Amino acid sequence: MIVWDSRQFAISLTASVLILILLGLLISEAALHRAYYVWPVFLAGVFYYLTMRRYIKRRRVVGTPFPEVWRSLLASHVAYYMALTPDERTSFERDVQIFLSEQTITGVGVEVTDLTRLLVAASAVMLTFGWREWEYDNVPEILIYPTSFSEDFEVTCPVAQRKLSGMVAPQGAVIFSSPDLCHSFSQEDSYHVGLHEFAHLLDMEAWQTDGIPKNLSASLRKRWLTVFRNEMERARRGESLLREYAGENLPECFAVAVECFFKVPDRLREYDPILYGLLASYFNQDIVE
Ligand SMILES: [Zn+2]
Repeated sequence: MIVWDSRQFAISLTASVLILILLGLLISEAALHRAYYVWPVFLAGVFYYLTMRRYIKRRRVVGTPFPEVWRSLLASHVAYYMALTPDERTSFERDVQIFLSEQTITGVGVEVTDLTRLLVAASAVMLTFGWREWEYDNVPEILIYPTSFSEDFEVTCPVAQRKLSGMVAPQGAVIFSSPDLCHSFSQEDSYHVGLHEFAHLLDMEAWQTDGIPKNLSASLRKRWLTVFRNEMERARRGESLLREYAGENLPECFAVAVECFFKVPDRLREYDPILYGLLASYFNQDIVE
């Protein structure tokens, strides 16, 4: 994530100066004597602030030292963070700070701890860490549930009913079961609800997913559908490294593949170097390195 967008700064500053000059020319000499000249200054200042407020706030946020408690929590729970170089860890911490300052995370019947907030942010930042100019502009409210839940959002549902550990609710929120999010970071299997749901957001346009991320380059797009359709069929036949849910449809195949790419990259590369390479190119990250 960009802390200070120099291009936007140049545009905002130039436009503010033009507003100042144009309004200044419109004010008569008599009005100047009545101190009306403050209005052009005020309006130009408001315009500059409104167009730059995201970056003004980010500078303030990253100017605050990263809390030691947060650093310890990341170190003890997020293996990805620990595998980074010291400089990369600083960038990761900065992205986590920005993400948490801009997203709303609300507990539903459960207290949202620092650890939960950090694990949500770490999931989001891991996916986009290779894209320094990426902005999460489509994250709705993030809700934390005390446990897994039904498709009707009930946490106390019959045992036989399908239980979800996370979902992107259409036009509503990203929901995570707090214990499942924690387990995603602590267990060594390929499952990861945090990466899974944020992968859906990368793929989402107008609340629709098709398994083709919206920022996929044209060069990757050609191979993408062939590789993922093939992988979905393998999952349906029970022949894939990806869990069975990848056979549901292309968006789920992509989200499940993302979990494997970040959690068991060695196994994924060994299983299918082409699928691994495609994801490494897309995310601009070679996790196995
Ligand atoms: Zn899904």
